[in-house]
Amino acid sequence: MEIQKIEHIGIAVKDLNKSIKFYEDVLGLKCYKIEEIKNQKVKTAFFKVGDTKIELLESTDNEGPIGKFIEKRGEGLHHIAFGVDNLKSSLSELFDKNIKLIDVEPKEGADDLNIVFIQPKATNGVLTELCETKK
Ligand code: ZN
Repeated sequence: MEIQKIEHIGIAVKDLNKSIKFYEDVLGLKCYKIEEIKNQKVKTAFFKVGDTKIELLESTDNEGPIGKFIEKRGEGLHHIAFGVDNLKSSLSELFDKNIKLIDVEPKEGADDLNIVFIQPKATNGVLTELCETKK
C-alpha cells in the first residue's frame, strides 16, 4: 500500500468545547468543523495543522468506543490515521498479510473520509486508521 501522509491524529476528550478552547485560545489553531458521527457514538472537532489534522473525539454514549476508551485509559491519544489513495486495495493487502482488522469493510468516518481501523494488537498497541477522501 502507499501511505500518503498522516491524515490526522485522534485524541479522546471528555469535554469537546473545553478542549476546542485550548486548541484555539492557547495553540492558536482554528476549529473548522464539528461533526457528530452517529455510528461511532462520537462528536468530533477538526483542526488543520500544516498538511495534517487533529481530530478531537468526545463520546456521545458511555457504551461507545470513545466512552469505553476514556473509562479504561482516560483522555489522551486515541489513534493515528494514515491517508491512502486506495482504501479497498489497502484493505485486501491487509487481509492477504493476515493483519487483524476491526473493520472488514470501509465505513463512513468524519470529515468526508472512508475509514478502516486495524486492531491495536497488530500494531504494537497503537490503534491505527487507514482512510481515503470520499470521491
Ligand atoms: Zn480518525
